[in-house]
Amino acid sequence: MTTRIHILPENLTNKIAAGEVVERPCSVVKELVENSVDAGCTDIVVEVEGGGKRLIQVTDDGCGMSREDALLALERHATSKISDECDLFGISTLGFRGEALPAIASVSRFTLATRERGRVEGTEIYAEGGRIKEVKACGMAEGTAIAVRNLFFNTPARLKFMRSGETEAGHVGEFLTRLAVSRPDIRFTYINDGRTVFRVLQGGLRDRIAALFGGALVDTLFPVESDSDGVRVSGLIASPDCSRSAASHLYTFINGRFIRDRVVQHAVLGAYRNFLERGRYPVVVIFIEVPSAEVDVNVHPTKHEVRFRDQGRVHDAIQGALAGVLASTPWLRASQGKPAPFVPSPASATETRVAEVREALARYRPEPERQQRFSLPPSGASPAVSSAEARMLNVESGARRDERFMPRSEFRTSHAESSGYFSALTVIGQFNAAYILCQDGSDLVIVDQHAAHERVAFEQLKGQHGQGGIESQGLLFPETVELSFREATTLHENLAGIAGLGYEIEAFGGNAWLLKGVPRLLAERNYLRILLDILEELQSLGKSRTFAEALEEILVRIACHSVVRGAHPLTPPEISALFMQMDATDFSSNCPHGRPVYRKITLGEIERMFKRQ
Ligand code: ADP
Ligand code: MG
Repeated sequence: MTTRIHILPENLTNKIAAGEVVERPCSVVKELVENSVDAGCTDIVVEVEGGGKRLIQVTDDGCGMSREDALLALERHATSKISDECDLFGISTLGFRGEALPAIASVSRFTLATRERGRVEGTEIYAEGGRIKEVKACGMAEGTAIAVRNLFFNTPARLKFMRSGETEAGHVGEFLTRLAVSRPDIRFTYINDGRTVFRVLQGGLRDRIAALFGGALVDTLFPVESDSDGVRVSGLIASPDCSRSAASHLYTFINGRFIRDRVVQHAVLGAYRNFLERGRYPVVVIFIEVPSAEVDVNVHPTKHEVRFRDQGRVHDAIQGALAGVLASTPWLRASQGKPAPFVPSPASATETRVAEVREALARYRPEPERQQRFSLPPSGASPAVSSAEARMLNVESGARRDERFMPRSEFRTSHAESSGYFSALTVIGQFNAAYILCQDGSDLVIVDQHAAHERVAFEQLKGQHGQGGIESQGLLFPETVELSFREATTLHENLAGIAGLGYEIEAFGGNAWLLKGVPRLLAERNYLRILLDILEELQSLGKSRTFAEALEEILVRIACHSVVRGAHPLTPPEISALFMQMDATDFSSNCPHGRPVYRKITLGEIERMFKRQ
């Protein structure tokens, strides 16, 4: 009699397990490389072709396996890392399920070559779709080399879910970066389609961070070292000046394992709260050690989440450790003794003033416009003052009507030209160095100067970009910039787009790039940080969206950074310049951040406020 229920053949159960363990090429790399780390190696070479779809090869100099062990390793639930239930609560290796090798072998053409330390020869096993086809002796260096070819060749449904080779190779790079950060004692080499993406030598954590994220960070990293309540925290954290626009440089490890955990992230950001603007993230590499029994890493096979027995205690210990370092603001000392930044020799006071006004005007006005509207009045003609300026100067008390605030003739425009809405307003003054108060007939108009500047800058950038590219300003001294391999890859892929933003940048060998020009609007700002933010933004898009789709967001970013933050007292000519710009800009929408640019309060509303109506 036949039964309805039967045990599935092992080949099929392995494939089912593969569905969970092996999601994409990166998960294969993860399993193989973690095995190499567990095998006590000091050198790992990872090579992928076609984003890992054609080939993934991981070679290590670890302990290797005997022929018997190598064959056993391909059996499901075969592991050397745990043997009874008690071990589950004290896992110190990266792997422990004994599932990876059989799962990977079941969905690929799989070659395992391994030579145990001290043995004279190695073993090579070849399997196809999980079936062992050949076992033979081989000559090789001590260690293990595993080659996975044609991943998912026998599961076409899976294959369809693979992204482009570049995207998959990018995931592999990110994973290897994380592991390389956690193990500076191991040499890592990553080769993608024959190109060495990175090769990091053995050294300390600081060297490792410099090699992976760029040497510029080195001087801004400060050590964390604390042990409280059974929670040990160590590592390096960067000064808040090196912040990023995404949490991409938050590297947190629990007992050596990379994690992306809500509780831990909250603790880290909490420590930086008073030092970072909203939406900025620090560069942090910390290793948290808690007794194995206090943490459960077995929550999910991809193992990025953990569960703490006492999460409040872990949270407070992490936050306390970081806050302790940050409270002493070590970066302020770090910058002492360094040469002061280059400052141009001061011109005479008036000239500086004029230069400032000219700059203020230039900043808010596209080139052709400027020529047209700021042309010098014909000689002999009495220069007219813009209506806004004139009224503003009248409103100002006599004492303030001194020479310094009188507009120079070249900045004056004729009445007819400045008859736009904003130029025609009577300026009452500035409130809190952030709002311009104006009178429009019997109404009160309040302009948010930051929002206005941002909107004007945004339109200007959009205009310039549409006409062939954003205006660039050459740097007097080109700057060498060290990028992380991820940033460099993104820059490579988007070089033309970045050039169109006004960044003139060339490869300079290795991780180094030469920055020769920057968007003119950013010449006085932190243009480098903005470039890194742009790269971050492009990375987060992935390959599915193009540069053009990200453009608007990027222009918003540049516009927003081109504007001085915080309180910014404006001189009357600067207010006029801004208003003329606003008149030339379509103000039907809000500032790029979605905030309103100006608000009007009618006399009626004010009278109601004072119960006069
Ligand atoms: P797990 O890592 O969970 O134990 P795997 O299927 O990944 O399970 O590996 C099975 C076993 O094969 C490991 O426990 C280990 O003993 C052995 N092994 C795998 N990769 C290597 C390697 N690179 N070097 C030495 N031994 C290895
Ligand atoms: Mg493993």
